[in-house]
Amino acid sequence: VAPIVRHVHVGTGYDTVVEWGGLQRLGTYLKQLQLPPRVFIVTDSNIHDIYIPALLPQLTAAGFEPHVYTIPAGEGSKSQQQLSAIYDWLLEQHAERREALVALGGGVVGDLVGYAAATYLRGVPLIQVPTSLLAQVDSAIGGKTGINHPRGKNLIGAFYHPRLVLADPATLLSLPERSRTEGWAEIVKYGIILDAELFALLEAHADTLRDFSRPPVALLCQIIARCIDLKVMIIEEDEREQGRRAILNYGHTFGHALENVSGYGEWLHGEAVSLGMVVAAMLAREAGLFGEQDVLRQNRLLAALGLPITYRGSVYGRDILAAMQLDKKVVGKQVRWIMPKQIGEVVITPLPDESVEHIIAT
Ligand code: NAD
Ligand code: ZN
Repeated sequence: VAPIVRHVHVGTGYDTVVEWGGLQRLGTYLKQLQLPPRVFIVTDSNIHDIYIPALLPQLTAAGFEPHVYTIPAGEGSKSQQQLSAIYDWLLEQHAERREALVALGGGVVGDLVGYAAATYLRGVPLIQVPTSLLAQVDSAIGGKTGINHPRGKNLIGAFYHPRLVLADPATLLSLPERSRTEGWAEIVKYGIILDAELFALLEAHADTLRDFSRPPVALLCQIIARCIDLKVMIIEEDEREQGRRAILNYGHTFGHALENVSGYGEWLHGEAVSLGMVVAAMLAREAGLFGEQDVLRQNRLLAALGLPITYRGSVYGRDILAAMQLDKKVVGKQVRWIMPKQIGEVVITPLPDESVEHIIAT
């Protein structure tokens, strides 16, 4: 399957590439960017053993001198400590301003290394090589980088764009099934907010897409590329989330609150977003915006892709509601909801707490 390339017109511009097996050609892609020979790769402890052994000789053969730093896998690594450790490592090697940092991993590696690249020597070239489904369709695109603070997630960060995003869907073969499944939530999200055709494609192929024993190579590449395309379209319009970019938070108002009150760990991000989309769709139906048939279609697709659509958690609706009011996206007193009008189109409206309480209680 030929690589699918999309040029992003933000800042100085860069390419996103979706290519099955593309990781095996990373050296070729880096060469095209005319980077100095030394490249600094950061990855996590899960990905290291799977991909680094083959990557090093490949980069060496392409004329590069790769250096690797490995962080512990998991959200805990999006920390000041890990960030400092990366700075220390780069300084020890006297890494220079033209030399590139490569983020090989999921959203954790991408956010942390992206922020390190944004700040080390006031900015060095960054290459994003996302290896989780969530990172390929979402976190590696859009330039948001950062780390967590003990007071909350993603509180420290910067907008910083990479020089290249290389998404190789073949890396998803080694991704644990639960992580792969949560990635579909963001993909369904793109269908609901922007693209009825993508939504229908997912409906038609849900079973095939879930079965990774025989991966539907071309279809997967096409879907991932389409999601990248949609996110790029939005950020080209609204890079810093002053307006339209907010629609990407469909399902996230409730989703973030649920993650918050249940303590990170009970629900994966995508699972929480799936439940958040179920809630937002119900609110939209109550408000007379979204039809019953469309609510059913959305929820059926989420379930077909292995995502949760009914809440069986340990926290109370009341606590989730309180957490939503603390969220940074609240304007005035009312929570602003991203609600579908039809599959492929959403609106943003504030809603009184009572109607939300009513839905969450059911
Ligand atoms: P992650 O990076 O923790 O990856 C999930 C798990 O899968 C980890 O254990 C990782 O080691 C493992 N893994 C990743 N790729 C693998 C592969 N190919 N084979 C085997 N194991 C693999 O988490 P994630 O879900 O990729 O990303 C979540 C993070 O992304 C969160 O910190 C979130 O805040 C951030 N995020 C950022 C943005 C943004 O715009 N910057 C958007 C959405 C999410
Ligand atoms: Zn998300």
